[in-house]
Amino acid sequence: MTVTSGKPTEEFDAVVVGAGFSGLYMLHRLRELGLSVRVFEAAGDVGGTWYWNRYPGARCDSESIYYVFSDHFSEELLEDWTWSERYAAQPEILGYLQHVADRFDLRKDIRFDTRVTAAVYDEATNRWEIGTDGGGRATARFLITAVGCLSVANLPEFPGRDTFEGASHHTGHWPHEGVDFTGQRVAVIGTGATSVQIVPEIADDVEHLYVFQRTPNYDIPGWNRPLDQEYVRTTKETYKQLWQRMRESPLGLPYDVPERSALEVGPDERRRVYEVAWGKGGFRLGGETFTDLLTDEEANETASEFVRSKIREIVHDPEVAELLAPKDHPFFTKRPPLEHGYYEAFNRENVELVDVRRSPIEEITPRGVRTRDGEYEVDAIIYATGFDAMTGALFRMGIRGRGGVPLTEKWAEGPRSYLGLATHGFPNLFTLTGPQSPSVLTNMTAAIEQHVDWVADCIRYLREHDLDRIEPLPEAEDDWVAHHTEVGDATLLPRANSWWVGANIPGKRRTLYPYLGGLGTYRERCDAVAANGYEGFALSSNGEELRSHLA
Ligand code: FAD
Ligand code: NAP
Repeated sequence: MTVTSGKPTEEFDAVVVGAGFSGLYMLHRLRELGLSVRVFEAAGDVGGTWYWNRYPGARCDSESIYYVFSDHFSEELLEDWTWSERYAAQPEILGYLQHVADRFDLRKDIRFDTRVTAAVYDEATNRWEIGTDGGGRATARFLITAVGCLSVANLPEFPGRDTFEGASHHTGHWPHEGVDFTGQRVAVIGTGATSVQIVPEIADDVEHLYVFQRTPNYDIPGWNRPLDQEYVRTTKETYKQLWQRMRESPLGLPYDVPERSALEVGPDERRRVYEVAWGKGGFRLGGETFTDLLTDEEANETASEFVRSKIREIVHDPEVAELLAPKDHPFFTKRPPLEHGYYEAFNRENVELVDVRRSPIEEITPRGVRTRDGEYEVDAIIYATGFDAMTGALFRMGIRGRGGVPLTEKWAEGPRSYLGLATHGFPNLFTLTGPQSPSVLTNMTAAIEQHVDWVADCIRYLREHDLDRIEPLPEAEDDWVAHHTEVGDATLLPRANSWWVGANIPGKRRTLYPYLGGLGTYRERCDAVAANGYEGFALSSNGEELRSHLA
């Protein structure tokens, strides 16, 4: 099977798809190795997530000082760049990525406004043939996907969706010129991390805001603030140690790892520990308090109830507070949003929570949203309905491996990978932040750094050893899938209907997509594989298999 088009084919050592954090760093590393590289990016510029998600209130949930390229990319960059806020807003993060692109002259190797629509492995040449929506063609020895875990918008198929006469926007495709909601009646559908950022941001401007909630979340305060310059200076002085801690940590964040079970201490001590974490803000409530919140239901319930008690303290109307307090899933089994005034917003006269669990959305009408209980007339609808995560973008780029087998077919029963980085039958394909790797369960810049470094080192190894093909052995893949499943099943995560298990997309295979073993442990495993000559992979040169052995 070949990719056909009238245009001449360009040849590269590597093609990278995507120009967000992952693609930019990958390009930089491959260039350092002296490879010819082409990056294809569907967007009009670099940034990935931060190019697309321009909705009001968009900002990172990882503290900005940790949400950067590390000293592995550039010590000078790490030293020079200074964030203004504890959680930088989208324009500042996009500005950072644009600065990186300028500073390292990355754009010259990137084709923007170009979507990869086909990527076919040709066994005869041992090359990937890439086709794009503009009819462009390229071939490359290595294909590296940097397509993002959260880059394909999920727009629910509500009947009548296109009949709405007002403006409607999905948060992941926000207009560059911004949207003015002043004096409007607005519907926000969804209550995930995105909605939680938008609601307090626009509540002041709108005449009336309806927030359509199907599932309440355990939102944690972020306590955003301008960054104190003395703090920035001391952080920069210790960046090397900080990054080392992040690399070795489970979450890619330099948190203190908890040592006690939540059930080992009395209620007063437990409350004290939770209050400290709540006061610090961010994911510390899950990451820094007790060892067993994700593995023991009873332990988890203590944290769940703590958050519910906070909601009841903040929200004045007890009925609204009860609706906002989650009871159908344990804490942190869905990604907890960081909130900056979300719960307080429901104390306003003009913000109204609509329970669409009790009374589901039946249709979108020309005038608004109709639930079973009646119609909500609005001027604008914001779809904060999330993404077809982890496999969404991979499944939409026409990847076919040996024998023309589509990736969609190979993964029909759920992803099958070795280390979340590669998959049998698809030689020389690397999937950055792919399913069955830690990715979205970490501070992603740390996970991205680890994946990019590993792939770059692997390609260097292949070149140094005169090898031109690497592919996971089926047995190594089976072992990884089994290990991934075992680690996930030992936790409470598979129980909740989260996007982590694909439950947000009708018909999507339900399985745990990200790897739960923690970044530090995962890194050790990947490093050991490399140190043992890429154990678990078949390596070959000119079609001749030199070595294949199992881990
Ligand atoms: P992306 O930034 O998603 O970039 C992938 C790029 O690939 C996109 O630009 C897309 O256009 C392109 N692409 C996809 N398919 C194709 C194709 N077929 N052809 C050409 N181009 C293609 N993570 C954190 O750790 N901390 C945070 O605080 C945080 N905040 C977030 C906030 C929002 C609103 C969202 C949606 C996600 C957030 N994330 C956060 C996750 C975030 O996605 C990652 O941190 C990071 O930006 C991912 O970078 P990436 O380069 O891997 O993917
Ligand atoms: P999300 O967490 O998947 O939330 C989508 C929301 O839409 C959910 O409340 C969901 O309800 C609702 N929804 C979906 N389909 C619906 C339907 N048919 N009817 C009614 N409600 C429906 O998506 P997101 O908020 O965009 O966040 C996705 C991820 O992106 C986050 O978890 C996070 O990893 C990342 N993100 C990060 C940040 C940050 O770090 N600053 C900000 C935004 C996003 P159910 O829960 O019932 O499915």
